Amino acid sequence: MQTTNPNFDLESTEIYITPEVEAEILSKISQVLYTVFKSKVRISVISPSSDSVRETLKKNNEIAQGTLSNQDLSIVALAWEFKQAGKKVTLYSDDFGIRNLAKFMKICVRGVRQNKIVRKRKYTFTCIACGAIFQEIIDECDVCGHQSFKRNFQKSK
Ligand SMILES: [Zn+2]
Repeated sequence: MQTTNPNFDLESTEIYITPEVEAEILSKISQVLYTVFKSKVRISVISPSSDSVRETLKKNNEIAQGTLSNQDLSIVALAWEFKQAGKKVTLYSDDFGIRNLAKFMKICVRGVRQNKIVRKRKYTFTCIACGAIFQEIIDECDVCGHQSFKRNFQKSK
């Protein structure tokens, strides 16, 4: 989570994170800084239900992604849970795995950084709808417009 994105209105937005994400934040910034931040911004720390975690793992397996870290899993599961409860939710992440899974689960997802993220990776991406193969991370399939991709690890020579 970052405050540099002007589209992210901290005053009127409710922010939810999971204990796993909070631990991650605390591993990167000081307790003092985090306490100040928390006093300025409404942040609720919530764990997703085990049902939501199970559903999220199932969906991740369906698109044959690699293993998700506990914090990645927890935040997607929480977003999914809110969506199921009829809340308007946007998941903020620049991580390919999270973004791809969120799109597959029809969760609204946005990047944190301003610039469009197109990173070269050592794998290719196959559109799960039409099978088109791409060398880079893209937001939607150039061929059919689908937004979920299967990540293919290239065999090392
Ligand atoms: Zn496609």
